[in-house]
Amino acid sequence: MMKDLMKAGFMVEMIRTTANMYAHGWDERNGGNISLLLNEEELREYLDTERVVRVIPTGFEAKELDGRYFLVTGTGKYFKNVQYAPEVNLGIVRLMKAGTQAELLWGFEDGGTFTSEFPAHMMSHCARLEADPENRVVMHCHPTNLLAMTYVHDLDERLFTRTLWQMCTECIVVFPDGVNVLPWMLCGTNEIGEATAEKMRTARLVVWAQHGLYGAGRDLDEAFGLIETAEKAAEIYMKIAHLPQINTITDEEMHLLEKRFGVKGREGYLD
Ligand SMILES: [Zn+2]
Repeated sequence: MMKDLMKAGFMVEMIRTTANMYAHGWDERNGGNISLLLNEEELREYLDTERVVRVIPTGFEAKELDGRYFLVTGTGKYFKNVQYAPEVNLGIVRLMKAGTQAELLWGFEDGGTFTSEFPAHMMSHCARLEADPENRVVMHCHPTNLLAMTYVHDLDERLFTRTLWQMCTECIVVFPDGVNVLPWMLCGTNEIGEATAEKMRTARLVVWAQHGLYGAGRDLDEAFGLIETAEKAAEIYMKIAHLPQINTITDEEMHLLEKRFGVKGREGYLD
């Protein structure tokens, strides 16, 4: 007897996360997308993985992900609707033929397909898995204050990261690897996918200037929490950027945080 897919931990978490991200205002309309690498054995308790619904070409190659399973949000789908019709707004796919094909095993029941940012997601998974074999999640959204910050702050990665670290004490603890930044690029292409993946080698957060943010993590909570923390810092920045600033968290204090929480800020980012 197959277990009920709607009760699988990964499905419950995915539905909760999309609803929560929408509630935070990070995923207006069809904005945002998530991909979650699934454990094959766990998935088999809920789904007959021999039954392929249809095959979808991916338009890119990712040999490392051959035979891997992903739960992914659909193109043109609204995060706010996922909880009401997961079988339409989400899909479970298996990558085949060196990642050039995706076998749809469940979902996208209206004939839809995965997010147009699928290349950026899959290439980012490859990059993150190399850096951390436990990585499972890649998440994209449009957090308001981080986006606003890309209009008024220098996009230099060290400067951008330092500003965020200075906005809340917990920042350097939550993302000691910092935030990488891509200039404005056309989205939905393999080019932005490759550029994002390259940036994902050294940080779990990648800002797309004037667009949004990519976050990665070992589970949905971790990726969500990363984005939430960076967005909170950006919110503080946008509240104070136009005011005379008379206090900050000094580099000396950052080093105290490193020591206290056993983290190490990105090499060369602190004096
Ligand atoms: Zn976007």
